[in-house]
Amino acid sequence: MSYDCSQPLCCRGGQPAPGHAGAGFWGDLHNCDIPYWTAEAILQYASALEKIDFIYYTGDLPPHNVWNQSREQQLYSLKTINELLAKTFPNKTFYSAVGNHEAAPCNLFPTPNVRSDNISWLYQVLADNWIKLGLPNDTRKSIEHGGFYTTIIRPGLRLISLNMNYCSWENFWLFINSTDPLDQLQWMIQWLQYAEDHEEKVHIIGHIPPKQCLASFSWNFNKIINRYENIIAGQFYAHTHNDEFVINYDEIDQQRPISMAYITPSLTTFSNLNPGYRVYKIDGNYPGSSYWVLDHRTVIMNLTATNLYNQTIFIDEYDVRNAYNMENLFPNDWHNLIEKLKNDIDGSLMGLIYQYYTKSYANGNQCDHNCRRGLLCDFITYRSEDSHACDLIPY
Ligand SMILES: [Zn+2]
Repeated sequence: MSYDCSQPLCCRGGQPAPGHAGAGFWGDLHNCDIPYWTAEAILQYASALEKIDFIYYTGDLPPHNVWNQSREQQLYSLKTINELLAKTFPNKTFYSAVGNHEAAPCNLFPTPNVRSDNISWLYQVLADNWIKLGLPNDTRKSIEHGGFYTTIIRPGLRLISLNMNYCSWENFWLFINSTDPLDQLQWMIQWLQYAEDHEEKVHIIGHIPPKQCLASFSWNFNKIINRYENIIAGQFYAHTHNDEFVINYDEIDQQRPISMAYITPSLTTFSNLNPGYRVYKIDGNYPGSSYWVLDHRTVIMNLTATNLYNQTIFIDEYDVRNAYNMENLFPNDWHNLIEKLKNDIDGSLMGLIYQYYTKSYANGNQCDHNCRRGLLCDFITYRSEDSHACDLIPY
């Protein structure tokens, strides 16, 4: 198969056209997703080596051949990958969130007021799959209703898993009516209030990060995070495929960091990325645990070397506190890192952050001044259509 084709996604089988190069057995770093056996090898590696209590699994299971997908194909992808996960991590609980690629056509999640289409075909399967992967049965009703749910992970730690497709500017159904579809934000506020009343800490997971939501959703979402900053111990998103983080700032003074959103690197190589996964070290397992992230470590597969030697080669890419010389991972520590970067935008630390942003596909020198400034902007902009933080960067 060719990595160099005329379609938006290559490496989809067949022989390369004359004069076009073929993809490696383990995948390719151009516009390609990874083969099944590469995903299988990475998951097996993680299962054998990592000490894992539970797994956040933030969606987008089907491949990126978005112009050529049916409901049946999406359900086949879900079944295949979920069975692989269950087989590879037999005694672990997966806490899942739905991605934008699970729908057919992708991104299009109709709201209940749309009479010509509905998405229950997907939500019923998600409920079945997610419960098989360890969610308790009492999450079923909520998943079947809207693809979101809440549950307790550990004593004092509540998870809220959101269906961010109801925030997304790529979900064209929202252009009919985007006012809190399925009352998801109202539902979230009620559970956050419940958590506050019962002295629980909360992790939020979702596929699409809030900065890629419609502005009305994104700004209201930020308001909610602000109100409940005392109990929200972490937010975990995906979708961009890059390794990123975003700081929430106090919406009134716009300077005090209040919460952290981690955007976790993807398994897929799409595009120009090595495959990777992330292990978070969380404060927990004693009465009154904070459940804040204490540290995180990212592991990548070096795809070029793996193809070259036809043997899987994994690299412990970095431990964040050590790599960025951070005391802790509280919002204030990330804010201090941002201040350091503002004074060192063309220095080596920013280059290192860019290298990790691409899962070490690229070298820091490949990110010029504008690219570095753009990254810095992204790290401090939680709301969409909000240029305030970027405007303050002094170059
Ligand atoms: Zn996505």
